[in-house]
Amino acid sequence: MSTIVDCSQPGFAPADLRCEVVVIGSGCGGATAARVLAQAGRDVVLLEEGGDFEGPERLTQRDLTMYDQLYAGRGARTTSDRSIAVQSGRVLGGGGVINACDVVPVAPQTWQLWQQRYGLTELSAEAMRPFAALALQDLGANPIREDQLNRNNLLLRQGAQALGWRGEVMQHNRQDCKGLGSCLVGCPIGAKRNPRRVSVPLALAAGARILTRARAVEIRGGGRPQKTVVVRTLDAKGYHPQATFQVQAQVVVVAANPVGTVQLLLASGIGNPWVGHFLSLQPQIPITALLPDPVDAFLGIPQAYAVTEFERHDPQRGLSGFRIEPIFGTPGVIGSMVTDPGPEGKQLMARMRHLAAALLLLPDESVGRIRRSWSSGKPIIDYTLTEEYRQRGRQAIVAAAKLYLTVGAESVLLPTAPPLVLRSQQDLAKIEQTVTLAPATLPLISAHQQGGMRMAPAPELGPCDPHGQVWGAPGIYVMDGSVFPSSSSSHTMAPILTMAHYLAGRLAAEWPRG
Ligand SMILES: Cc1cc2nc3c(=O)[nH]c(=O)nc-3n(C[C@H](O)[C@H](O)[C@H](O)COP(=O)(O)OP(=O)(O)OC[C@H]3O[C@@H](n4cnc5c(N)ncnc54)[C@H](O)[C@@H]3O)c2cc1C
Ligand code: SF4
Repeated sequence: MSTIVDCSQPGFAPADLRCEVVVIGSGCGGATAARVLAQAGRDVVLLEEGGDFEGPERLTQRDLTMYDQLYAGRGARTTSDRSIAVQSGRVLGGGGVINACDVVPVAPQTWQLWQQRYGLTELSAEAMRPFAALALQDLGANPIREDQLNRNNLLLRQGAQALGWRGEVMQHNRQDCKGLGSCLVGCPIGAKRNPRRVSVPLALAAGARILTRARAVEIRGGGRPQKTVVVRTLDAKGYHPQATFQVQAQVVVVAANPVGTVQLLLASGIGNPWVGHFLSLQPQIPITALLPDPVDAFLGIPQAYAVTEFERHDPQRGLSGFRIEPIFGTPGVIGSMVTDPGPEGKQLMARMRHLAAALLLLPDESVGRIRRSWSSGKPIIDYTLTEEYRQRGRQAIVAAAKLYLTVGAESVLLPTAPPLVLRSQQDLAKIEQTVTLAPATLPLISAHQQGGMRMAPAPELGPCDPHGQVWGAPGIYVMDGSVFPSSSSSHTMAPILTMAHYLAGRLAAEWPRG
């Protein structure tokens, strides 16, 4: 079995490497692709710019260090107008290491939409079923048990039932979970069946070479049979570049999350003018409520139940409406979600045990775009909420506030500028009057970036072909959520695993191609 090479270790002198396929990024897409191709007998090198964080010594549950070390941009990456925090993983295993573990596969209506509206005719629900099954198998997907629902989740269910709204307990990818509640900064006891714990070991067992703190900065030779990936090693904390080496390969698979994938392809001058377009961020609105008695939302599984009453499948536009899903985080994160940062905020945080919190998840249109700053090389994420989206956002806030007031909340808090505090059902009218969702008036969160490298049946319609190969760049593939033509699901881990199994399985079966 191969081992994981940490390129940041003192004295590490990188030598140039040769392989058949180099995979960039080790998240749901990259780790799965590396494992499938290695298991098919290909010589694989997997590059990951994050470090390897496993076990309680490294996954310390401390928000400052963990956001710094496990999140892209140290958790501070935003859209260019500062409206949306764009969160993703930067660690061996990618977002699966720091996500909330909810498993929501692609719905049959979405496969149908992608076939009919986006011309991806091969992606029928029937054809994709075996790959969806592989994804669920990797995740060990299982229903969250009744005794694992904490009060934060039970409150939403109680409210939904009182209002006659539909909702469901979700599936997750946890096994032997002890309910420590720190999922968003990694699970110290390894209870998540994420890529770090499933596909990474399988890829190693199949002979793949894995390098951490190894950032791909350029792909050269796009049109040639042999490509070169230029790699910078990073220091132990991933702050500074150290040495440079090259990996030569016949095939390059990019799976660095939409932002990283687009950034690398733009830096390399690869792809057609659509590279970076059609970005969906699926922004989520945070809302908190103060209850008269303790909720202790920081204990147990943070996100287990979803109010699905308002979720829609629009035959023309795809996933729409909204979901209400509980959430909780470390005190630092919750502190940023409450209203009034001053003395009132302090008093509120002193009553943290009484806080309930939720995210209002609204699937969006693919209206964003990722560009690359030619001066700094950093990604620029442009995204403007449509008027329809803002209206839906207000409806979601009204619904969530109504629910919390129904279960007896003293107040519902929306961290808008200026802050909004609702104390009665009569107050709900204030939402329509005051919440504009104008740029930087509400701290929105994106955890489900998709698109940017949309698959399309012709180069005039998108940057990748229906098998993930970049149009005009034979041998360069994309295998992460950036290939989705629209929102795949309300949660992206299972859809990305499904797509990676499909695309990598195809590549393995058709090798060599292009
Ligand atoms: C806080 C949070 C909660 C979430 N909760 C859920 C949930 O409950 N359920 C769900 O289904 N989904 C959830 N998601 C979303 C899901 O985790 C992601 O969609 C998924 O992990 C993305 O997989 P990926 O392979 O596309 O990219 P990632 O997992 O982001 O992996 C990309 C990897 O590429 C690396 N990389 C980037 N650029 C380079 C480069 N140039 N060179 C080398 N390496 C590079 C990055 O460091 C990263 O590790 C959540 C996400 C977040 C952030
Ligand atoms: S709640 Fe479960 S999965 Fe999440 S960190 Fe704790 S033990 Fe791990």
